[in-house]
Amino acid sequence: MAKIKKTAEQWREQLDEHTYRITREAATERPFTGQYYDFSEEGTYHCVCCGAALFLSNSKYDAGCGWPSFTQPLAEQAVEEHLDTSHFMVRTEVVCQQCDAHLGHVFTDGPGENGLRYCINSASLDFVAKEGADGED
Ligand SMILES: [Zn+2]
Repeated sequence: MAKIKKTAEQWREQLDEHTYRITREAATERPFTGQYYDFSEEGTYHCVCCGAALFLSNSKYDAGCGWPSFTQPLAEQAVEEHLDTSHFMVRTEVVCQQCDAHLGHVFTDGPGENGLRYCINSASLDFVAKEGADGED
């Protein structure tokens, strides 16, 4: 998959300030403030920057941490993981494979078989409801 590369200025034009700070500067939204932490509709979560499909609602669960949490990405190659040693912590950062948008972090206290918890900023995601759900058409 070809990478999407844009300059900081191009991203700033496309994104609002809040979204820019999170996706391009790896800021973290305050817990319990995002659009999707308490949200359980069926559908697909896409990268807010490039539109790549990243997570499915059926791997989303309520971790009680105030951010949308997933047990796994939609596909292994949808995201990339990097060691993040900022803020005096050792964490694994999760970014969009296609455009390197900062999404959140992955932790090893998840409930699923793989034991992973993808803790993702709502601001990095764009939810697309499953077709036919909610009685459309
Ligand atoms: Zn992306």
